[in-house]
Amino acid sequence: MNGPENIGRVVDEVYQEALKITEGDLASYIPELAVVDPELFGLSICDVEGNRINRGNTRHPFTIQSVSKVLSHICVLACQDDDTIAKRVGVEPTGEDFDSIIKLDRHRRPFNPMVNAGAIAVTDLLMSAHGDGALEKTLQLYARMLGCARVEIDETVFLSELRTGERNRAIAHLLNNFKLLDHPVEEVLQLYFKHCSVQVTTETLAHLGAVLARRGRAPTQDQALVEPDCVRKVMSVMLSCGMYNYAGQWIYEVGLPAKSGVSGCLLIVVPGRMGIGIYSPRVDVRGSSLRGVHAGRLLSERLGLHLLAG
Ligand code: GLN
Repeated sequence: MNGPENIGRVVDEVYQEALKITEGDLASYIPELAVVDPELFGLSICDVEGNRINRGNTRHPFTIQSVSKVLSHICVLACQDDDTIAKRVGVEPTGEDFDSIIKLDRHRRPFNPMVNAGAIAVTDLLMSAHGDGALEKTLQLYARMLGCARVEIDETVFLSELRTGERNRAIAHLLNNFKLLDHPVEEVLQLYFKHCSVQVTTETLAHLGAVLARRGRAPTQDQALVEPDCVRKVMSVMLSCGMYNYAGQWIYEVGLPAKSGVSGCLLIVVPGRMGIGIYSPRVDVRGSSLRGVHAGRLLSERLGLHLLAG
């Protein structure tokens, strides 16, 4: 068993090794994501007792991007019943890119809430549950899960994506064509893009991971922020779908529920033990942080975190 000191030493080594990776590119399909410093690198751990390990740029804010899909999925599980959700989105991995349209067109229902089509359908369900208060209501839950008093939206990134997000617009129109949206396409997209533009740090992502690792309770708190059953569902989908068309390899090598975001962030949960938040903005073709994935792989291997490793 690794004690806290040993974990600190392993994290140091992993951080230094991952720092050497300089491959990958900044995501440029959202223009504002292409203007960040590519060298930024933060790695944070928050364990279920609230102990923290932070290395590098752990207070540098960045947009949460697709890690918001985890939070929106939690929100929808808290406010809509399983049957209603299942009519709009499944739980199967797509094996396709995060913004793929092919399978949605063929199957007429998004495969899972971790890809864009599924998250946009989920966003519409959140609007049905909360009406005009959907943004405020969801951001309150985001803040609690991230361990912040309140969260901010990066308006520049939001507007950048609103202006250029034609693929997401195409997905939303297709969902509308399949009668899977109850609200106008542009209104659903606005809320979806706002969720993607919430500012986080690796420290707040690690807190989110720790809440999931503790089955819905914040470290050192008794009160549940979300039901354990809801956490089980979300982590199951993270495990099978959170890394998109890299999910199989990720489970094989790392064996932990995770979610990547195209800003270069990565959330990893070690159930019962800790949450890990990583940020490094150079991403691979699948939109996952190269340093993040490498660090996740090394941490799992060296700390023996793979869920199926006996
Ligand atoms: N906001 C991004 C999009 O919808 C999120 C994608 C991602 O992080 N993989 O395209």
